[in-house]
Amino acid sequence: MADTTIFSKIIEGEIPCDKLYEDEYCIAFNDIAAQAPIHFLVIPKKPIINLLSCEDEDKNLLGHLLLVGKKIAISKNLENWRTVINNGAESGQTVFHLHIHFLAGRPMKWPPG
Ligand code: AMP
Repeated sequence: MADTTIFSKIIEGEIPCDKLYEDEYCIAFNDIAAQAPIHFLVIPKKPIINLLSCEDEDKNLLGHLLLVGKKIAISKNLENWRTVINNGAESGQTVFHLHIHFLAGRPMKWPPG
């Protein structure tokens, strides 16, 4: 289980966010330090630390997060975007509550840094 994080506080409504979508399983909001013209996060309400912590029982939830992100992207008329899930501090994870980044609105380079 994840410890209290900035994202669990957003889920609980203890701190505000620029919310794009919410349902019983997840919440999506704009990243506070956007790395592209469009940069939003989709996070589960379930306190999962990262993909490493996911179990088979989470497969529907994981699919739901991706599809919610896709629907938000489509609502923004996007056809090109990058999804990122950092797993662990060395990968760049700074908030230890699972989240999927959706980035768009500028050309993306490969390989990522
Ligand atoms: P990561 O580095 O993959 O753990 O991503 C964490 C992301 O959360 C970063 O892109 C931060 O800018 C973002 N972030 C941190 N605090 C907030 C917040 N209060 N509202 C929105 N995004 C946040």
